[in-house]
Amino acid sequence: SFKAIVIRKGEDGQQTVGLSDFDESELMEGDVTLRVEWSTINYKDGLAVTGKAPVVRRFPMIAGIDAAGTVETSNHPDWKPGDRVVVNGWGCGETHLGFFGEKARVKGDWLVPLPPGIAARDAMAIGTAGYTAMLAVLALERHGLTPDRGPVVVTGAAGGVGSVAVAILAKLGWHVVASTGRSEETGYLKELGAAEVIARQDLAGTPRPLAKERWAAGVDSVGSTTLANVLSMTRYHGAVAACGLAGGMDLPTSVAPFILRGVSLLGVDSVMCPQHLRREAWRRLDSDLDRRKLAQMTEEIGLDGVLDAGQRIVEGRVRGRIVVKIG
Ligand code: NAP
Repeated sequence: SFKAIVIRKGEDGQQTVGLSDFDESELMEGDVTLRVEWSTINYKDGLAVTGKAPVVRRFPMIAGIDAAGTVETSNHPDWKPGDRVVVNGWGCGETHLGFFGEKARVKGDWLVPLPPGIAARDAMAIGTAGYTAMLAVLALERHGLTPDRGPVVVTGAAGGVGSVAVAILAKLGWHVVASTGRSEETGYLKELGAAEVIARQDLAGTPRPLAKERWAAGVDSVGSTTLANVLSMTRYHGAVAACGLAGGMDLPTSVAPFILRGVSLLGVDSVMCPQHLRREAWRRLDSDLDRRKLAQMTEEIGLDGVLDAGQRIVEGRVRGRIVVKIG
């Protein structure tokens, strides 16, 4: 058996969660067995371990949607023992046993080779949050947007998706406007490359159909009123990549930005994202994310710190990224 963060459901329907022993024979079906070396805390992991939203659909569940590690055994043609890999999404930590534990059994089709330039710990400092930030940047680029078109706004900027998005966009030459509810993180965001830091409050009022045009592009991890305000302030033919719902799942907008300014709303999903796009995102993270900035935004914990970190992230109190050392 091995130690893992296990979520169980009692006969009374109540969820319990804790660090406990998990029997290897209880691992689910899959053609690759992994030794998990690093994982990380994402917003969704916070929802899972606190039970704040019903993201876990199978019990018992090993929480954790992200892993970097080494292949131990494989019946999959693409993978052999010793291969270094990253895996996230595909329902891991939700419907398939996840990665806050030393062992995992998964489908070989879900794996991405760890890019040679990225250490396993750095891959998890990036994690689903950072890879999603890169997917958002790729979506803006696919839309034809370039830094000469004007500023880009990043909401929830001091969070995981936000911090990585700020660092990447700054490196690519964008004028980054970072929106945060934590004014004490202004210095941190400027070090990551933000040109301007604005208050979350600026994007919190009742959204007007159209407002003064402020940016050509946006990466939004907040949703709700914030995203509606971002859209109303987006320049002619600009686009906003919607990644998250930290502020709510609703979207109180109107069609005005779309039909009067030709603004586009680009959806970003990391979970079922196809392999070719995942690999492109990891290649671009290798080339376009400054490792020194990544180190600046990363804190490290062990499995015994996961529950506390999960609580902190759903309360919006995590700055940047948290890696989890497994074992
Ligand atoms: P995170 O580290 O907690 O970042 C979220 C940030 O949003 C917070 O740090 C905070 O930033 C801001 N925020 C929190 N509560 C807010 C509120 N009530 N109103 C306005 N702003 C608020 O979480 P994360 O891991 O980066 O994830 C961010 C979001 O993206 C989550 O909703 C997550 O579910 C989603 N996500 C989606 C995908 C996908 O596949 N589409 C993948 C990964 C993550 P400030 O303190 O700077 O304001």
